[in-house]
Amino acid sequence: MPAAPLQDVDVLVIGGGQAGLAAGYYLNRLRRDEASGRSGPAPSFAILDANPETGGAWQHYWSSLELFSPAAYSSLPGYPMPGWEGGGNPSADHVAQYLRTYEGRYKLPVHRPVRVASVRAATGGGYLTDTDRGQWTSRVVINATGSWSRPYVPLVPGSNRFTGQQLHTADYRGPEPYAGRNVVVVGGGNSGAQIAADLAQAAAVTWVTRHPPRYLPDDVDGRALFDIATRRVRALAAGEPAPAGVADLGDIVAVPAVRKARDAGLLRARPMFSRFVPDGVQWEDREQLDADVVIWCTGFRPDLQHLQALDLTTRNGVPATDPALPTRSADSPALFFLGYGDWCGPSSATLIGVGAAARDTVSAAQMAQMAPGFTAR
Ligand code: FAD
Repeated sequence: MPAAPLQDVDVLVIGGGQAGLAAGYYLNRLRRDEASGRSGPAPSFAILDANPETGGAWQHYWSSLELFSPAAYSSLPGYPMPGWEGGGNPSADHVAQYLRTYEGRYKLPVHRPVRVASVRAATGGGYLTDTDRGQWTSRVVINATGSWSRPYVPLVPGSNRFTGQQLHTADYRGPEPYAGRNVVVVGGGNSGAQIAADLAQAAAVTWVTRHPPRYLPDDVDGRALFDIATRRVRALAAGEPAPAGVADLGDIVAVPAVRKARDAGLLRARPMFSRFVPDGVQWEDREQLDADVVIWCTGFRPDLQHLQALDLTTRNGVPATDPALPTRSADSPALFFLGYGDWCGPSSATLIGVGAAARDTVSAAQMAQMAPGFTAR
């Protein structure tokens, strides 16, 4: 088979989930502005995505998952999410369908499935990106690879002696396979609470959390969280005393399914166990519980292994970013991180929040690729 040709663009976006598509929207807008004579030359760009289908992480979530917010508060820039007729907040499938429509509506140049293996600084400036379908060069790289493919599981003694099944949020598809079984759900965040609630009718669920669960007030949903995060960022930027942030208020959004299970007394959390035994788990006081299945709802880490060759500086376990523009790498003016969480833009891991981070990133990316004497590092 002939080798795939080297392809060149000004801006290469890695990842075609909600964050990559939001970056695509703003890059596309520069193209439209150029075509209408409103601005000068727009950068060329491409989006590479490892998934075979549109939808990023949303295509992998369990079917009963519902959003924290109504459709009207879950939109990417430019095109509002259509209303959800199922009642309550939209489902994960509704979001995946919305992202499919979004990508098609703006004719975004997404190449999939293409997995990026590594990004290196190219001789003479810019980046050289190796994929399973050939190489790309670009002056700018915007990373929007999310965290779904890097589930985190803490080390617990005896884990390899446990004869039951262990899985992670990322493997959970619904309660059916666990009917009538003893299931331990680990984790005091949203996925832990939602999966424990989802399983509560079907299985014998024991929910364990490191700290007692902290529910946000019942009237706080995704739109209120976004307002809280925005107010806090604005106050900090203006040098004013910062109001309480989301983390100060709680960890768990009381979506209707969680509220229902909680109010029915089905979500009583126990402290974290201290070790596995062959048939289950054991607490410090030697109390033991038989378990067939342990589901780790213990979060994810940013999927950034493909950047190893760039030898980036890290801060608190994530790449260091520029205080003046939190999506920009502190090591390179032409390398950006979009959508991973507050460290690279307030609320940037949400549908409603990623638009502002994408707009600022694309504007900085355009400046970076036009800068005379530009070098990647
Ligand atoms: P992803 O959606 O993960 O997309 C990243 C894309 O990059 C993927 O398609 C992947 O294939 C691709 N990729 C990864 N590595 C490579 C590589 N090396 N090469 C090429 N491509 C690559 N958010 C909300 O706004 N509202 C909610 O109600 C909400 N509820 C949630 C509930 C749960 C249980 C969870 C886990 C998350 C929830 N979120 C919610 C958060 C939201 O789903 C994620 O933050 C969001 O999907 C992240 O989008 P992303 O585009 O950054 O990453």
